[in-house]
Amino acid sequence: MHKLTLKELSAQLQARKISAAELATLFLDRIDASDLNAFLHVDRELTLAQAKAADARLAGNDAGPLTGIPIAHKDIFVTRGWRTTAGSKMLQNYVSPFDATVVDQFNQAGAVTLGKVNCDEFAMGSGNENSFYGPVKNPWDKTAVPGGSSGGSAAAVAARLAPAATATDTGGSIRQPSSLCGVTGIKPTYGSVSRFGMIAFASSLDQGGPIAKTAEDCGLLLNAMTGFDERDSTSLQRPKEDFNRSLNDSLQGLRIGVPKEFFGAGLAADVEQAVRAALAEFEKLGATLVDISLPKTELSIPVYYVIAPAEASSNLSRFDGVRYGHRAADYKDLADMYKKSRAEGFGEEVKRRILVGSYVLSHGYYDAYYLQAQKIRRLIAQDFQNALAGENRQCDVIMGPVSPTVAWDLGDKTNDPVANYLADIFTLSTSLAGLPGMSIPCGFGQGEKNGKRPVGLQIIGNYFDEARLLNVAHQFQQATDWHLREPA
Ligand code: GLN
Repeated sequence: MHKLTLKELSAQLQARKISAAELATLFLDRIDASDLNAFLHVDRELTLAQAKAADARLAGNDAGPLTGIPIAHKDIFVTRGWRTTAGSKMLQNYVSPFDATVVDQFNQAGAVTLGKVNCDEFAMGSGNENSFYGPVKNPWDKTAVPGGSSGGSAAAVAARLAPAATATDTGGSIRQPSSLCGVTGIKPTYGSVSRFGMIAFASSLDQGGPIAKTAEDCGLLLNAMTGFDERDSTSLQRPKEDFNRSLNDSLQGLRIGVPKEFFGAGLAADVEQAVRAALAEFEKLGATLVDISLPKTELSIPVYYVIAPAEASSNLSRFDGVRYGHRAADYKDLADMYKKSRAEGFGEEVKRRILVGSYVLSHGYYDAYYLQAQKIRRLIAQDFQNALAGENRQCDVIMGPVSPTVAWDLGDKTNDPVANYLADIFTLSTSLAGLPGMSIPCGFGQGEKNGKRPVGLQIIGNYFDEARLLNVAHQFQQATDWHLREPA
């Protein structure tokens, strides 16, 4: 049962072959037995109460495709009744008085919260090693990182501890852990998913999205997650759409842009091989490959690592031991209390970003760094528009690797922030441009250590082209079985 997709589980629930309470129990038992450190908070009572309510809806005529489906929430979405820590000591005992809009949308749909999953502190990281609560292990090889920052979400789905999970992507945190854990994840167009109740990292980049086994499941989840929210000032006002409406469209004539910058020097040979094999599979499905260029790709690292810390330094100012967060036990006066509380509550990477962010925003450096980064951000977005839009558009979607390597060993990059930043090279530009992007499993790396390590294919589309991305991914998943492979 735990191996089924969300779509299949939904059919089982609707046919009353299994109850929501039984299904939740099955996953809770799997979570209890797991040693991945994927879950931070589990509460059987809360989960089973929701499952019973879902069973009542299933017995009546009030059930939708997500009613009774167990879901894990990244611990960055606030949840009434559950702790929400954002992977930080700062919020160790924080319980929100309200639900994030995303959580609320799933509750309304009758989904059942299985628990809160681990992540890098305030979603800052690429390996889930920046969590105050310890790293998550990659289910394929427990000596490897699961990716980050949504490492708990991806590992939980890969290990079949949950059929689906919520996640957030500021510079790759849905796509990259999906890639490293061999699952499917999509970050929709910026503004599609409400940021209300999603603990803020870099507000002009943060975007929620789902991780699941298949593209079709991701579409069902997106249908519930998206929509206008007046409590989020950058939420987009758009008509509701069915993201799975074109899953079965043929790929005949599809033009796939292959950016040369995504296949340069830093790309590992085994990742390149798996990605090229996936591109060849798409050619068999009727698509054509078009060589394109996204010349500003390289600049996305310095640009992102100026803009994201700048926004973070402002967003994280609320954690001062008064309004929110940990408060130091001993202090002389108010200023000392702020200093000690923040020194004790934040981890190394978060402090580094607050320092960098404050620096690039400071008088005298603002023009040289922050403003300059904003200008290049616009050029990066323009690169994509040159390829995907206008009269001279070259392609319908863009494909390439998600991560330059497969999952690295736990501990390998822990003390090397720059090595972590460089691993984001293929995901940052999409985020800076606000475009939708997804990762689907497309093979494995060559060196098997204590298990195989998965490779993900990235699919990027123009604004609001999620339905097409899901169509493209679904057709690939009909023709291949990478997405069905499971860790030992
Ligand atoms: N790895 C990137 C960072 O550390 C992206 C994280 C994210 O998308 N939340 O900022």
